[in-house]
Amino acid sequence: MTVSAATSVAGVIGDPIRHSLSPAIHNAAFAALGLDWVFVAFEVADGNAEAAVRGAAALSVRGLSVTMPHKAAVIPALDRLTATARALGAVNAIYRVGGDLVGDSTDGIGLVDALRHDEGVDPRGARCVVFGAGGAARSVVHALGQAGAGAAEVAVVNRTTARAAAAAALAGDVGRVGAAGDIRTADIIINATPVGMAGVADGGLVLDPGLLRSGQVVVELIVHPVETPLLDAARAAGAHAVQGLGMLVHQAAHAFQLWTGQEPPLEAMWVAARGRVGPHPDGSD
Ligand code: NAP
Repeated sequence: MTVSAATSVAGVIGDPIRHSLSPAIHNAAFAALGLDWVFVAFEVADGNAEAAVRGAAALSVRGLSVTMPHKAAVIPALDRLTATARALGAVNAIYRVGGDLVGDSTDGIGLVDALRHDEGVDPRGARCVVFGAGGAARSVVHALGQAGAGAAEVAVVNRTTARAAAAAALAGDVGRVGAAGDIRTADIIINATPVGMAGVADGGLVLDPGLLRSGQVVVELIVHPVETPLLDAARAAGAHAVQGLGMLVHQAAHAFQLWTGQEPPLEAMWVAARGRVGPHPDGSD
């Protein structure tokens, strides 16, 4: 594509940001639809999120993704929040409605969409166990508890129990604090901790792999690396293993729709994401 004076700009703010897959995913989507848009990564240091959002608005940046460590810090710079962003106290996508800057959180619905559209897994009526109670876990727990997803139960298992209780409350009546053994009876198990991530000292497993079985869906949120010990253990147990890329692609797809008003070209977004992390080990990609 050729960048001209007419090109619309969108981007992501975060720190670190140079590893981000978002520019590849969004630029592929713009190209697929022939849109005169470009997406760039802005390195924004902790403490500068508000100034960055106000500056981006002044520069008529058409859409912003927000990643660590700015998901809460951007809120004072916004005119309003969606109900989801307000419940979570976190924003990962900023868009304009008239003159207003609106903050949304598309991570949780991104995961639900990834399960439904790409994996043939419907969380409706499912017993879910979520490991972790940080930002990613909270968005997933909230989404699973919404009427649209309709999980039967969302048990949150976390190292720090007080945080598990706060996260479980986001699922409303179906949320509760869980224990590691809950995976015995779970339909869907989600790792929303960094355990298994490249460069994390405790790089093993967040759960006992001996408790996994066929018929279960085991979802990893980690994207770097795209293959983790948990996914290996899930496949070895005959369970349905789901990589973290799906949530990343679908949260981006929601943001793309908010910014451009267009139906996101999911296949192009998937190809771009996979091209940055390599194929699936079963050769399906
Ligand atoms: P976070 O806010 O820092 O939360 C991390 C959570 O993991 C906390 O609940 C923490 O427990 C727990 N934890 C950390 N180290 C642990 C350990 N050694 N053993 C057991 N529990 C541990 O992080 P986050 O933003 O939620 O991200 C979590 C993971 O999701 C990361 O791997 C991130 O890359 C991934 N993620 C993926 C996507 C996607 O689109 N696929 C999107 C967002 C995040 P305590 O509460 O006890 O500290």
